[in-house]
Amino acid sequence: MSAYPLLFTPLTVAHLTLPNRILMGSMHTGLEEHPDGAARLARFYAERAAGGAALIVTGGVAPNDTGRVLAGAATLSSRAALAGHRPVTDAVHGAGGRIALQILHAGRYAMQPDNVSPSGLSSPITPFASRALTDADIRQTIADFIRCACLAQEAGYDGVEVMGSEGYLINQFLAPATNRRDDAWGGDSTRRMRFAIEIVHGIRAAVGENFVIIYRLSMLDLIEGGSSPDEVVMLAQAIEAAGASILNTGIGWHEARIPTIATCVPRAAFSWVTGRLRGQVGIPLVATNRINMPATAEAILARGDADMVSMARPFLADARLVAKAAQGEADRINTCIACNQACLDHIFSGRLASCLVNPRACHEAEFEALAAPAWQPGAPVIAGPGNTATATGQPALATGPDPMPVTNRQTAPRRVAVVGAGPAGLACATEAAARGLKVTLFEAGASIGGQFLLACQVPGKEEFAETLRYFRGRLAETGVDVRLNTSARAADLLAGNFSAVVLATGVKPRHPEIPGIGHAMVCDYADLLTGRVQPGRRVAVIGAGGIGFDVAGFLSESSHPGERPASSPAVSPTPPALAAFLQEWGISTADTRGGLAPPQATVGQREIFLLQRKPGKPGAGLGKTTGWIHRTALRHRGVQTIGGVIYQRIDDAGLHTLVDGAPRLFAVDQIVVCAGQESEHRLAAPLAALGAHLHVIGGARLASEVDARRAIEEGIRVGLTLPA
Ligand code: NAP
Ligand code: SF4
Repeated sequence: MSAYPLLFTPLTVAHLTLPNRILMGSMHTGLEEHPDGAARLARFYAERAAGGAALIVTGGVAPNDTGRVLAGAATLSSRAALAGHRPVTDAVHGAGGRIALQILHAGRYAMQPDNVSPSGLSSPITPFASRALTDADIRQTIADFIRCACLAQEAGYDGVEVMGSEGYLINQFLAPATNRRDDAWGGDSTRRMRFAIEIVHGIRAAVGENFVIIYRLSMLDLIEGGSSPDEVVMLAQAIEAAGASILNTGIGWHEARIPTIATCVPRAAFSWVTGRLRGQVGIPLVATNRINMPATAEAILARGDADMVSMARPFLADARLVAKAAQGEADRINTCIACNQACLDHIFSGRLASCLVNPRACHEAEFEALAAPAWQPGAPVIAGPGNTATATGQPALATGPDPMPVTNRQTAPRRVAVVGAGPAGLACATEAAARGLKVTLFEAGASIGGQFLLACQVPGKEEFAETLRYFRGRLAETGVDVRLNTSARAADLLAGNFSAVVLATGVKPRHPEIPGIGHAMVCDYADLLTGRVQPGRRVAVIGAGGIGFDVAGFLSESSHPGERPASSPAVSPTPPALAAFLQEWGISTADTRGGLAPPQATVGQREIFLLQRKPGKPGAGLGKTTGWIHRTALRHRGVQTIGGVIYQRIDDAGLHTLVDGAPRLFAVDQIVVCAGQESEHRLAAPLAALGAHLHVIGGARLASEVDARRAIEEGIRVGLTLPA
């Protein structure tokens, strides 16, 4: 009996019988425009198809040049482009999967000068002026959508998804905020809907019945002047009548200032929106947003909110998540923690998407090529000491197989010591052990996790606990010998006869040289987040980087830190937790246009000052797609963020500073230092001196931007390339 009986009940969509209820949602990876994109996308999607995704939706492809999100972005507007798609559809079908092409016209969200929209109203999130489409342009655009769908069919796709949400062109026609026309395409809701309906109707007429049409319908715009719930129902019914096979859910326009997919959004926080449409249409409904584990998906189906769920980023984190769920091994899923750090943040900075917890994503062939042969009894092995410390004594990351000659054969696998069980050490130890090496993992603390142990104490970052659960399982299944509460010493490591030592000892908090820094009211962020120190009522936070913002968030929680339950993400939010999230961000469950309500954060009793030396507003360096959420959340909670601060001294009166040149005393009873980190690599020099074959990775190698994405990637690279 499956743990997820509803999830693994087949679903009929148009002519297809899907084996389960999990759709892999659309994600732009950057491979769409890459020179080797077709082959790499083929491999990427085929792995997800083999891993059990019932139906995959590609990243958005424009139906014509004006619809491109960026100049140079992928279009499918002529048969010449088919060659770039056939490898993808063939590979997915070869792996037993199904795949639909998403057709996306960016409209006024296009980051290019050729920017069009219903009424020529420029978007607040793009720098380009928008031109209003003429009646002839609109008819041509509909024809372009239809042509694109026909080409997709010719390329072997099982269907298309018509992107009608997130504020892209179709959505711009639907909402009064962006459609001010008074002709056949605007004026009242019937005319605003016409563009969407004619696209779906035209596609169905052109492709016949044996082709899936998914329509991604914006069920909650989260903007002023968005659609009303009644209009959403009317549109859904009209789209069904026009020939759509299934309705996918869209939540929030890109310009909305409400988080919809970040880690602070409770799991399945928006499935109720999809649920409002149940019974109003006859075709299946797909719920989306912050669904990352099978138990959450099953709960959505059990509540009756949807017939299917969409997961997108979770397939970056683990290509085999569906297969693992089907086999009753959900505990082995590498869970998407919704950080956006290596997927969306990469895309928005012009890089290929990947995944913080799974750097192989979109780089499958590269990692495969990197891997040194696994250990096999009697196989030739590489011997001899190596040392990757540089001439300056600074530790360097060793990558690639060690360039040493094959000198002997051995019958036992090589023994490797990994010191430090944070993300870098965990990734390295499990990767090396999976290749057959005998790995001993030393950890000075009582648990594995390093900086992740701290992160999962931060409200809204509970998902980080999932990564530790995943690594605990990997340590057990790969047979890593884990020594907790063990501070490894250089001499012991040498005496242990390890063929290589990997230092993954992480970072230690930086202690700035401020007179009085040793005062009893001063602590560092680790003391606070672990509960060793209970916070005061008036708190100054020194340092406004990612950790300073996290600490201010922790302090501003209405419940007292230390009284919070042990962190682990809830399968579904409790009704009070969901209500608190919706209230804090101003999301209305009532019949309001756009789904907005006045935000009402629950403000705690504590007075908090978040300080930095740089002039200007703190938070400028936070993640591209999440920084605004942190800044807004602290503003909601009344945290005072102040830049241009010079710290003068600390005494019983508090923190004495100059702010923009004027003296200011922060009369606080607690000061939390979040002033960055320094590498903890004190073992590197003695080990190098003793001739150990040494690799230094993660924060121990480079503290300046201590970054879990880099740490995990470095760990995997070294774990893959250590000689077996
Ligand atoms: P950080 O981002 O480098 O910030 C350090 C802060 O300390 C800055 O505000 C810096 O600003 C201040 N500072 C540096 N030296 C100082 C000194 N000597 N005296 C007083 N203040 C000093 O480092 P972090 O906050 O520790 O975060 C580390 C990394 O963790 C980030 O790079 C990120 O990768 C990751 N992270 C990100 C997030 C997120 O984006 N939400 C959350 C947590 C962690 P001034 O020099 O202007 O004072
Ligand atoms: Fe999920 Fe973060 Fe990976 Fe993106 S980078 S897929 S949000 S875990």
